[in-house]
Amino acid sequence: MKSRNPETVPPIDGSARMRVAPVICYPVDTLRPADLDGYRAARDGWKLIDEVVVPPRDGRSFTVPQGHFFRIVSVDGPQVGDLNLWNADDTRECFYSGKTRALHGTHLSTGDRLWSCIPYLRPMATITQDTLDWYGFDEWGGGVHDVIGTRCDPYTNMLLHGSEYHACCHSNLTRAFADATAAPLTEAEMRVHDVLNVFMCTGFTRDTGQYFMKKTPVRPGDFLEFFAEINLLAALSACPGGDCGSEHSSDAAVCHPLRVEIYRPPMAPNGWQPPPRNTYSGTHGRVG
Ligand SMILES: [Zn+2]
Repeated sequence: MKSRNPETVPPIDGSARMRVAPVICYPVDTLRPADLDGYRAARDGWKLIDEVVVPPRDGRSFTVPQGHFFRIVSVDGPQVGDLNLWNADDTRECFYSGKTRALHGTHLSTGDRLWSCIPYLRPMATITQDTLDWYGFDEWGGGVHDVIGTRCDPYTNMLLHGSEYHACCHSNLTRAFADATAAPLTEAEMRVHDVLNVFMCTGFTRDTGQYFMKKTPVRPGDFLEFFAEINLLAALSACPGGDCGSEHSSDAAVCHPLRVEIYRPPMAPNGWQPPPRNTYSGTHGRVG
């Protein structure tokens, strides 16, 4: 992290250089905004077709056909969930947390898309409702539903604490993907990727820029709702950090289950089409 006592003397115009105003890296005004009214109108008369309960400190997979909705619901008590998404028809296409962050910001909410990895780079899902949208950013710069963390994992835990722990989100997601696809654990692990941290409250400290977490404000009944833009295989881990107000990667925190609800609307949203994969030629400047 940045030193509080830099070794290098600032240049004579250092202050002027620091006063240069920032520009947004990826303005998204060229993207067609999510038609929230259209999505929400499609919910009228929808039918709950499946429910999956993710046990505490474990993971479960579920599938959502394109044009369907799913909700991740808080039940029993405050609990953070780590979400992975794959194209159910080709699991090489998966959620791209980093580019989603670059496009929509550090924390997601209603109207944001969850983008897939290169070379596909298209919306996999759209957030259609977020009952924690009231939270915004708190006085520490903390917000809910981040795409800045990665997922708790047993390797970092070994690095920092020198002990084995098997219920990290990385392992929970690995087992969930392996169970869903019959892939061996070693292969499944390679398909697990950086997550959407559902309900987690996080930010970066202003003085040192370190990743922080604080107790999630989620209450039972809160939910995050998505519209599946393509056929999805998803996996959700109920993080061993519980409300992530103290620690993770251990059995110390109180944990609760999470419920996933999958809904089939009577018809597709008006004018909606599944997004095609990215149309870049893929030649990277070489011909033939
Ligand atoms: Zn976790």
